[in-house]
Amino acid sequence: MNHHRIVIVGAGFSGLGMAIRLRQEGELDFAVLERASDLGGTWRDNTYPGCRCDVPSHLYSFSFAPNPNWSSTFSPQPEILDYLRDCAERYGVMPHIRFDCELNSADWDDDAQLWRIVTSQGELTADVVIAAQGPLSDPSYPDVPGLESFEGKTFHSARWDHEHELAGKRVAVIGTGASAIQFVPEIQPKVEQLHVFQRTAPWVVPHRNRPLKRWERAVYRVFPPAQLAMRAGIYWARETFVLQFRRPKLGRFVEKIALRHLHDQVEDPALREKLRPRYAMGCKRILPTDEWYPALVKPNVEVVTGAVGEVCPHSVVGEDGVEREVDTIIFGTGFHVTDIPIADRIRGRDGQALSETWGGSPAAYKGSAVAGYPNLFFLVGPNTGLGHNSIVFMIEAQIEYLTGALHALNRNGARTLEVRPEVQSAYNLDIDRMTEGTVWVSGGCKSWYIDANGHNSTLWPTFTWPFRQRLREFDEAAYALGAAAPGPVPAAA
Ligand code: NAP
Repeated sequence: MNHHRIVIVGAGFSGLGMAIRLRQEGELDFAVLERASDLGGTWRDNTYPGCRCDVPSHLYSFSFAPNPNWSSTFSPQPEILDYLRDCAERYGVMPHIRFDCELNSADWDDDAQLWRIVTSQGELTADVVIAAQGPLSDPSYPDVPGLESFEGKTFHSARWDHEHELAGKRVAVIGTGASAIQFVPEIQPKVEQLHVFQRTAPWVVPHRNRPLKRWERAVYRVFPPAQLAMRAGIYWARETFVLQFRRPKLGRFVEKIALRHLHDQVEDPALREKLRPRYAMGCKRILPTDEWYPALVKPNVEVVTGAVGEVCPHSVVGEDGVEREVDTIIFGTGFHVTDIPIADRIRGRDGQALSETWGGSPAAYKGSAVAGYPNLFFLVGPNTGLGHNSIVFMIEAQIEYLTGALHALNRNGARTLEVRPEVQSAYNLDIDRMTEGTVWVSGGCKSWYIDANGHNSTLWPTFTWPFRQRLREFDEAAYALGAAAPGPVPAAA
């Protein structure tokens, strides 16, 4: 009753993609645990004004479910969320999702050879757990002295408070990453005063977003191969972007384009100097927008360089020691990426939490499997993130691989699959080798791509097609197969 062959954690892009594939494979004995009351993952959580994908829509969608109706070349968040809802309905996944069901713990029971899972709705067991919670799901708040004393309103960009009226307010925005550059231009015209706290100036390039014309959408509807061809063109064009990350000198040309963009949009030399990035382009995510700089030059905006020094009941004090009175603080400060909270909740064969095993540097085999954690697989796991192409491509490669793993279990009549530690180590040494000399480690910045130990545990550091090639076939030899346990599967306690 309380046992499933497979439990997927998270109903975002990757969890839904896996669930769809399971149904297509005829596997119906699975549940998707979703802690929120709706699906969509990051596209459900990020409702901030101006939220839009910075990867082109034709590519930021499942290859098996093209959407001819995107309104623009880079889709706004509500359309992506609608798309995911539509996919979940269309492919019959909804009945499998348990909403408001948070995974509190998952412990491997080596005697029973299954996962014992405790959720906010009770207990269950599973043969296989697929962790699809994603790396951008838990907001990170800055550790600023005095923050708890603030008497105004605070919220994170990924938990936008739409009830809070910003019109006429004095607002501090902390952070100038991919989220802030989208919502700041939206709120600037409304607020009375905006203080943007910029610790590190980002590289900003002109954006190519445009509405898709009615005839274009009609063509994609009546002749789907046209959209697939467009998708392929965008994919291969974006693949070339990785060259500048792997050979930072190649990035100089794009840096010039970005500096020209800054020059064209910001007249004041002092402000321009504040906004000029001080590290090699690509070391942090490159941000495409035509609205960011024009918002910052408005008279009601102040760019404060440096981190926030202190928060007082009615003000924010910058590192410059200047106190600025504000009613609202908005954190555009990103997510717990290399310290994903779920790693504290998953315990493997020897009872050790994944976070302890990782010691601050998440590592897996093919971004999917971790030695010591039988029948646990990740989607968008360690070293699957990208700075240049669509994560959906990586997700689909992993779904293919995990499907192969499930087939291998069935084919061999085996109970468990566990990656061999030496195989995992060799794989990760290969990633380290591929990371050497790239802009992410030599570019002179501090980014969430690199963990607290100074190690790349997030990015796939090269072209994406070799990743798909590596994951095309499930390589059984890399795993130890555990024999089927005698007797029936014990039910949850
Ligand atoms: P982010 O890129 O991690 O940016 C966080 C910002 O907050 C940075 O400017 C950072 O400064 C600053 N910050 C963090 N801690 C701080 C502190 N203690 N004091 C002062 N400043 C602090 O976060 P994000 O903008 O939410 O984006 C996260 C990721 O989500 C992106 O990289 C991207 O992958 C994804 N995303 C995608 C889209 C899209 O597709 N359109 C939109 C939003 C987000 P430093 O730079 O100095 O660290």
